[in-house]
Amino acid sequence: MRKTFLFLLLSIFLFLPRAGADEASCEILVVGGGSAGISAALFAGNAGADVILVEATHVLGGNTTSGGVAFPGLFHAWGKQVIAGPTWDLICECVKLNDGTLPDFSRGGSARHWELQVKINGPLFALMAEEALQKTGVKIRYYEAPSSLKKTASGWDVTTAAMGEIRTIHARRVIDCTGSASVASLAGAQRMREETTQPGTFNYRIRHEIPVQKLTPEQKAGIVKKYEAALKDGTLQPGDARWGILASLEDSSRNYVYGADGSTAEKRTETNLRGRQAALRMLRFIRTLPGGETAKLVEFSPEVGVRETFRVVGDYVITVDDYTSGKRWDDSLCFAFYPVDLHVNETGVQPKQLEEGTVPTIPLRAQIPAGLDDLLVAGRCISSDRLANSGLRVQGACIASGQTAAAAAIVSVRTSKPLRELDLTVVKKVLTDGGAIVP
Ligand SMILES: Cc1cc2nc3c(=O)[nH]c(=O)nc-3n(C[C@H](O)[C@H](O)[C@H](O)COP(=O)(O)OP(=O)(O)OC[C@H]3O[C@@H](n4cnc5c(N)ncnc54)[C@H](O)[C@@H]3O)c2cc1C
Repeated sequence: MRKTFLFLLLSIFLFLPRAGADEASCEILVVGGGSAGISAALFAGNAGADVILVEATHVLGGNTTSGGVAFPGLFHAWGKQVIAGPTWDLICECVKLNDGTLPDFSRGGSARHWELQVKINGPLFALMAEEALQKTGVKIRYYEAPSSLKKTASGWDVTTAAMGEIRTIHARRVIDCTGSASVASLAGAQRMREETTQPGTFNYRIRHEIPVQKLTPEQKAGIVKKYEAALKDGTLQPGDARWGILASLEDSSRNYVYGADGSTAEKRTETNLRGRQAALRMLRFIRTLPGGETAKLVEFSPEVGVRETFRVVGDYVITVDDYTSGKRWDDSLCFAFYPVDLHVNETGVQPKQLEEGTVPTIPLRAQIPAGLDDLLVAGRCISSDRLANSGLRVQGACIASGQTAAAAAIVSVRTSKPLRELDLTVVKKVLTDGGAIVP
């Protein structure tokens, strides 16, 4: 009898909903741990804010690590640094620990833009970002993603799903760094996107013994002929070697994954499946070539790099004219710098360089979703038209908008003022005190 009673009591305890057990609160909730999310969380943590960073996967870095795009840029314009701060410092430390070197930034306009990107060791950067965030007291929560948001008087109640657990985070301010503004969307913001997306790229490496550079013209022609036949019979597909088979033999990542889309889990899955199948096709094809018989797949990035998904509709949409003219607003809080860089399925990419001396800026109003309070967006999905976004989406600008969002959120929490009513001189001071460069 006593045993049955104890069993009943235990069952009731186990199955009772445990209110409060899975709750947490913070001043600033950053969702997404890519370039923008790392930057936002690190800046806010350094400034003494109480920060939680929620990341849906198992690692920091976003496209820098998971997409294998480990060459962030650009931090310098026309020979002068325009983006700095704790994440820039972290990138420099990462280069140093890897015995790498920084580009010669003083070359300015005489260098091609990709020569001024910083080559980093992606996995090392992910570890160093984790270390830096933990040192500042940021609580990192992997395998977790918001499923709904509810507005409260003091901020947002964010419900998350985390491997079978439902949790609630009470946050004063939320910074959406998901790359697709999905948290802003859950909160009711509008988003925009194109009907067709730019092609993505799957970064992988196949090691083989084909001495591409030393091949005779006849040998090269033989490979190209085989490649064309493979395209015809469907062994390979267009995009598998977007810049031609010879370029792909030198660098496996010279591919396009057409229609790459990361805006929903279903589309992300489909994009990854197609990118990975393309790598398999290439491996099998290379193994039919002289010198390729023992080719091996030696490396691949966890995800296909996706260039565009959704952008939020903010209080203001940055246009390509704003971007290319280097327009300044009274709430321009950071710079961005990169050519207009739209990838097109048929023609690839033909970057349109900015005019000498032009440095675009990002206004805070493009980081506040129209109609929402206490929530900011940073990174690739800020409010911008497609062409402006093709320049703004690079990691330097994502890092800059991440720390801007952090500074605005900090001032908003400390002064209990809405984001649209902040004293911008105070926000600018928080930014410069934290090492950022303000226009
Ligand atoms: C092929 C390719 C080449 C590129 N070349 C360059 C280059 O040369 N130089 C350069 O600087 N940039 C380049 N870019 C652009 C740049 O890499 C990205 O635009 C940038 O990294 C985006 O950063 P982000 O922080 O906005 O988003 P992401 O890096 O996409 O990070 C978003 C993070 O949020 C997480 N997340 C998403 N949804 C949720 C959710 N609901 N809950 C929790 N977590 C979530 C994701 O897992 C991810 O970690 C390139 C991009 C591609 C695809």
